[in-house]
Amino acid sequence: MRRIALTALAALATFATAAANEAQPAQAVAGAPGCLAKDGGLGTERIVEIDTAGGPLFGDITRQDKEATFLKPKEVVLTFDDGPMPWITRSILDTLDKFCSKATFFSVGRMALAYPQTLRDVLARGHTLGGHTWSHPLNLKRLKPDKAIDEIERGFAALSIASGGRTSPFFRFPGLSDNGAMLAALQKRGIAAFSVDVVSDDSYIADPARLARVTIDRVEARRGGILLFHDIKTATAKALPTILAELKKRGYKVVHMRSKELLKPLPELADELQPLLVKNDPPRGPGAERAAMLPFYGALGPVAAKNMGEGEKVAALDIEVEQVAPQPRERKIEPSKEAASKPKHVARTKPLDLGYPAGWSTNVQRARLNRPVYD
Ligand SMILES: [Zn+2]
Repeated sequence: MRRIALTALAALATFATAAANEAQPAQAVAGAPGCLAKDGGLGTERIVEIDTAGGPLFGDITRQDKEATFLKPKEVVLTFDDGPMPWITRSILDTLDKFCSKATFFSVGRMALAYPQTLRDVLARGHTLGGHTWSHPLNLKRLKPDKAIDEIERGFAALSIASGGRTSPFFRFPGLSDNGAMLAALQKRGIAAFSVDVVSDDSYIADPARLARVTIDRVEARRGGILLFHDIKTATAKALPTILAELKKRGYKVVHMRSKELLKPLPELADELQPLLVKNDPPRGPGAERAAMLPFYGALGPVAAKNMGEGEKVAALDIEVEQVAPQPRERKIEPSKEAASKPKHVARTKPLDLGYPAGWSTNVQRARLNRPVYD
């Protein structure tokens, strides 16, 4: 049941008539990039620039060793997973522009190749792009290690070619299902992992008013943190203006994350995926065809190592930038109890302590057992 639903979604993402559904990106607003609010909106209080070389892990919801938070009380980081999905992502981008707030999008590789213009719009409006695997397997830990690593690397390669090399080495595990071995692999590649502090529950709440209430209650209970949303959910797009207005009213500030360096994809995977991108995103204009035949990392040269465009926007907005560079830590690699060769029933594991009742993990377990989800 679950597998059928996922296969159908994957097919939708890869083979939908992407060009027909994707409008051209919106134009940036002169003078204040991506900002439409007359009163400054919720705004972006400050930027945290993360050096990912040591493979840090941020966010409360994990059993692994993690870094101390870089957030002060009443600060939030906005994150959106699972897109891009043009008709949802664009609405969310418009809302973020209205509030002058910046976010991080953890996007799925095959979605990025299906909707590359939307992916580039995310970056054009000053947001950060991180990876969330190639095809969003619900539990990477259940895959054989080499298959799990391929999911991560293939996802990043897809994002890199679709974004023109502007992907950050930021990763979020689907279902927040991490382990020491995969974190060690990310560390070797200089990729940071991001769990979550506050779950909006937008995977399960379809009513926008209720979603806004639940999200704000949870933000207040924890006094901020890294917030998880999904840019594939209608309710999220509908609830976001209320959520951001309420955060402003209650004195919360938005912190924007960006990476010190950009991600360098594995060249063999980038080459393998390039024809898929060209198929969904045919080159336009004189010389475009030839340029599209070159791998982006060849076409862009050393400039690809810089976070292009971001510096100018930061200067224009006069926002404080804090550098965060955690030292690498030794990852504990647990013996694999969940190898792919074991029976494929869904085990009931002890829920993580989220600090509030009616937990997210309870919902995830119920959803995994009883209905197809794509969280
Ligand atoms: Zn996800």
